[in-house]
Amino acid sequence: MKAVGVFPGRKEVGLLAHAAPERTAPDHVKIRTIEVGVCGTDREICTFDYGTPPEDSEYLVLGHEAVGEVVEIGPAVKGLKPGDLVVPSVRRPCIHSNCTPCRADRQDFCFTGDFTERGIKMTHGFMTELFVEEERHLNIIPKELKDVAVLVEPLTVAEKALAQIWQVQGRLPWMNGSPEPGHGRTAVVLGAGPIGILGAMALIVNGFKTYVYSRSAEPNPKADLVNSIGAKYVSAQQVPVKEFAKTVGHVDLVYEALGVADITFDVLKILGLNGVFVFTGIPRHKPAIPVEADNLMRDMVLKNQIIVGTVNADRPAFESAIRDLGVFKKRWPKAIASVISGRFPIDAYRELLLGKATGIKNVITIGSYS
Ligand SMILES: [Zn+2]
Ligand SMILES: [Zn+2]
Repeated sequence: MKAVGVFPGRKEVGLLAHAAPERTAPDHVKIRTIEVGVCGTDREICTFDYGTPPEDSEYLVLGHEAVGEVVEIGPAVKGLKPGDLVVPSVRRPCIHSNCTPCRADRQDFCFTGDFTERGIKMTHGFMTELFVEEERHLNIIPKELKDVAVLVEPLTVAEKALAQIWQVQGRLPWMNGSPEPGHGRTAVVLGAGPIGILGAMALIVNGFKTYVYSRSAEPNPKADLVNSIGAKYVSAQQVPVKEFAKTVGHVDLVYEALGVADITFDVLKILGLNGVFVFTGIPRHKPAIPVEADNLMRDMVLKNQIIVGTVNADRPAFESAIRDLGVFKKRWPKAIASVISGRFPIDAYRELLLGKATGIKNVITIGSYS
């Protein structure tokens, strides 16, 4: 089979011949890959910053944002049948019996660090024609979402973040019990990439008045998209943080989807009373930058603030992402379709992974729906 992979030992990225996988356990499902999203993580793996092949392989097949069609099921598979559309999750539990999160299917909180991740860490990914997966790591997708299903995995970042936010803000009991828990509250999204835009959509659906603060000057297509869903785009290049703070007023929540510290710590200064700041981006290793640590510490205490970091996602986050994508598609059919900025054949992998980052979410089309 054709596959896109990296050889970290030889520092090479290439199209390779990968053996077709077989089902080896009764709960295994064989899936034909339809689409795979390309993201910053894939691009970073191609700079050999991280990304580890399986123990018995020289290469790692890339790709962790996939949608596929079930072609074969093992005898113990209960909830899936050939023809079903599925989105796999990414992280697989470690094997240690004392890792309570992994043993409770919460490998997103694995504390041994020995988890694996498909297409990232010690397990092949989905940028290939077929893959095999345990049923419990697959999420079924309604057929009417097939054209946007490749966005499920990136949307789980916001969904897990929101689940954490509701838990953290459970400390403010007067906030609980509303069907639109963000109603009357203001959120700031940092960054207008796919994680930021999908996060903004999720925040709006939950009732937040939402601003997206991102570097690029207006006008630009991402700003247009953001404004079209009822969020307000503000360019960090054109509006400094101090001025931005005046427009926004009280900031209840900041959802960081930028992966760089400088703007992020500037915006931390404008977080309001009882506010939550969620980090989702992973900065590259860089020299230290000056931070107004005393002022930030003072604010954190005097304003009851909380900073939460979040990585990976559990099954409920996938279920929420699938449900919300349905909501987004009804509410903003044009905007959600345009989050997918391009669909490319597998042979275009080099430009997508190693070329200049363009568009919002670029997708490699590998198979077609039956
Ligand atoms: Zn990704
Ligand atoms: Zn674990």
